[in-house]
Amino acid sequence: MIERKFKRLVISASTPIAKTGNGPAVGGKVNNLLLLGNGTENGKDDSKRYLMKGIRGWINHAMIAVAKEQGVEVCHTSSKTETQSGVNLLPTGLHARGKCLETEECIQHKLMGSISKPSKLKFEPVIIISTASKGKIEDNNTQKMHIATERRNSLVHKTKIAIQDFGERYFSGKFTIKIEFLEELTKEELAFLLKGILYAPEIGLGAAVNNGSGKVNIHSVALQEVTRSRGFNKQGKVVEEEKIRNLWKEMEEGMKAWPKANT
Ligand SMILES: [Zn+2]
Repeated sequence: MIERKFKRLVISASTPIAKTGNGPAVGGKVNNLLLLGNGTENGKDDSKRYLMKGIRGWINHAMIAVAKEQGVEVCHTSSKTETQSGVNLLPTGLHARGKCLETEECIQHKLMGSISKPSKLKFEPVIIISTASKGKIEDNNTQKMHIATERRNSLVHKTKIAIQDFGERYFSGKFTIKIEFLEELTKEELAFLLKGILYAPEIGLGAAVNNGSGKVNIHSVALQEVTRSRGFNKQGKVVEEEKIRNLWKEMEEGMKAWPKANT
């Protein structure tokens, strides 16, 4: 049997409606659902599975916003400081991603890393399947949500000739986000991450956020210590087990540790 002990945050969230943009091939549009393919190999469940993209970036943006409100300088999402034509890309209060490693590493870089240093956080993939799907979901990592596709047409003026024919997908319902800690977080780092998560509903996820499509609510957050073990039973079948302990006290104390003056 093998065993690994780690900490993670389990976030219970929901969206009344999130829009994903116009299909994967349409240039430049944000698309938050990546089609992974159809169901299980036994053919009982042929529903499409989607990967919900953009969760990491969403929380990263929220952390940047929290830092900005506190007047703390952190990394920008990009390591570029200007466009090819020399236009400054860097908003005030931010430095180019990873630049702080040369002087004093900022709190956001300590958590999220950059090309120069790996992140301390691993975001588990959020894989969703339509609630309309029949049959049993065979894996523990797939979550059921409402998924709808709206067919849309753009026609040549005064004709019925289609310029473009595409589907816009929407999803809604409850989902769970899991963030695994690859290293122990300091109290300050935990506080900064928790505050970023609490801020995230202010930002919204995916396309058409400005039209209100992309509102995400956060319902609960749990800091857990997980002991995951994997071994064989007598028939050689792999048996995986997770022992979970909720660390409420550590989470409560963690909230006070950043920013420093805030008690
Ligand atoms: Zn930085």
